[in-house]
Amino acid sequence: MGHITRCSPRHRATHEAGHAVIAHRLELRVLVISLATVAGNPGFTTVDVADREGLRLAENRNLDWRLCTYKMAAGLAEIMRYHRKPIGADDDVQRIQQILAALFPYQDQREIARVRLLRETRKLVHKHWATIVVVAESLLTTHTLDGDRFVEIVDGV
Ligand SMILES: [Zn+2]
Repeated sequence: MGHITRCSPRHRATHEAGHAVIAHRLELRVLVISLATVAGNPGFTTVDVADREGLRLAENRNLDWRLCTYKMAAGLAEIMRYHRKPIGADDDVQRIQQILAALFPYQDQREIARVRLLRETRKLVHKHWATIVVVAESLLTTHTLDGDRFVEIVDGV
């Protein structure tokens, strides 16, 4: 169970909105975004790749990279709003490390890739911050957004 159980609904909504908005911008189809607790995690965002394949390592590097990016975006969204170390991103960090380890077998390459990933994701989160905030607020009200409703909100910003 993640530490995120101890943080406010708005904090959790910001985390999930970070995942969902950046996934959408990377053309990963968002199926559902929710604050419901599943398997001890209060909140989840499901994209079609993750849902179908359990977010196992994808066959192509471009997709792997996008998966890392949308995973990383949630923690960075938390930082944007709360200016502190993210508390909901432990599972995400683990998954990112797994994917990067598969993509970059050598430690020095992996470290360079991690820095690049961080820089690119931060840029995306900044760029789409207004949308992330709107989605987070909407999620707070509705608790769960299906993919269609989510896209309506994103398109309306
Ligand atoms: Zn997460």
